[in-house]
Amino acid sequence: MSELTKLNLQGVIQGLRRGEFSCRELIQAYFERIQSLDFTINAYLYTDEEGALRKAEMVDRTLAEWRRSPQGELPPLLGVPLAVKDVLCVKGMPCTCGSKILEGFVPPYNATSVQKLLEAGAIVLGKTNTDEFAMGSSTENSAYGVTRNPWNLNRVPGGSSGGSAAAVAARLAPVALGTDTGGSVRQPASFCGVSGIKPTYGRVSRYGLVAYGSSLDVVGVLGRNMEDLALVFELMAGVDPRDATTVDLPVPHIHLDRSTDLSAIRVGVPKEYFIPGMQPQVEAAIRQAILHLQELGATVLEVSLPHTEYALPVYYLIAPAEASANLARYDGIRYGPRLGGEAMWEIFFRTRGEKFGPEVKRRIMLGTYALSAGYYDAYYGKAQKVRTLIKQDFERAFQIVDVIAAPIAPTTAFAIGEHTDDPLAMYLEDVFTLPANLAGVPGVAFPVGFDQQGLPIGMQLMGNYFQEELLFRIAHAYQLTTDWHLRTPQ
Ligand code: GLN
Repeated sequence: MSELTKLNLQGVIQGLRRGEFSCRELIQAYFERIQSLDFTINAYLYTDEEGALRKAEMVDRTLAEWRRSPQGELPPLLGVPLAVKDVLCVKGMPCTCGSKILEGFVPPYNATSVQKLLEAGAIVLGKTNTDEFAMGSSTENSAYGVTRNPWNLNRVPGGSSGGSAAAVAARLAPVALGTDTGGSVRQPASFCGVSGIKPTYGRVSRYGLVAYGSSLDVVGVLGRNMEDLALVFELMAGVDPRDATTVDLPVPHIHLDRSTDLSAIRVGVPKEYFIPGMQPQVEAAIRQAILHLQELGATVLEVSLPHTEYALPVYYLIAPAEASANLARYDGIRYGPRLGGEAMWEIFFRTRGEKFGPEVKRRIMLGTYALSAGYYDAYYGKAQKVRTLIKQDFERAFQIVDVIAAPIAPTTAFAIGEHTDDPLAMYLEDVFTLPANLAGVPGVAFPVGFDQQGLPIGMQLMGNYFQEELLFRIAHAYQLTTDWHLRTPQ
């Protein structure tokens, strides 16, 4: 492996500025690695080597000039390679959302999150694989083949941001954008042994993110450590006139120092998150990590989030309901391929019938049913009420503790094909991640151990609204004093 693909963001940024390597060499190193490994892993659905190299040359010229007369500030991410989940629009690159129904669609604009990072100097390497329209927990629902877990090629990388997580784990990108509607940043981060941030709902613009569940969707980041995540997060966060659900609050400049003293921090451990049937090594690793936070000075308290058990049914009513409405626009007329004949209905019927995959159809049916006259109050309406109770659980807990530490998934990465015949078993993988999305609170994910088969185990810290900085700080203290996040797959 080239030394360059081992660098984290700080290493990349400093190395470029000092002229230790050129941006062209850096980008080339990534593409060489992608060429030699991604045939097996399938993290990327699309790459743009030519475009990336062109930008790298521009970066090299800017850097050369700056080194001659170092005046002013360089853009903070100048020359940083970035992978983008294929549900976010990048101008001029195909955006498939892992679906055949968007085959050939090339957005003429950038998502706000992407645009901000491009303005900060990042270079997009390509678009990463995802479950179709981000519906799934394993990346097996992609119409373009499964992504393999770099730790064990017979295992899933998690999902739906499985391509981004695998790309970071396999050193095919130093950092990647993902999205988290019900766990899709945190769970693949956990399965692939990398770090991830799911920001507060409304913290990062959803403009240019292809909608799945609009009241739940958040753009997040996957990377190697908290410093890298914090840097990308603060650059893409903030209010956006193009997304009315973004919140106009100042985004802190996050400075993570070397301090590991957590004595001012109260960590809550929700008793509902340790359930029978969970893999014992996962529970053991989480308990050990919580103990570690305690050793760093944190006060650990048991808390209760009593409505946790309803998160799964509530999510699987609300998310499909929103999806069924959002996906109505794929009619064979406005985007992607068109099948069918003369009549409008025939076009709808054939295009949607042939181009949507089975999981997407299942959710459109579930969602349409939950929203239909006569069932609306019993299903969708009731789910919304219980969602409020779940939110109140968090509000109550955050009166007592600063953050909540919990497992991300009941198991480590499962085998490819293990749950594909049983959608309910797949949905059950999401029990621990859905509540944060329903409440809208932020969460970070980071590696805290390995199981007996050498598969990574991740933990999440959930925080109060807009408290991402605190989450980064605590997880950073953990990473300063442990080395799980430094391990790499063979
Ligand atoms: N696994 C969940 C689902 O299938 C969450 C996916 C996501 O966060 N995009 O809906």
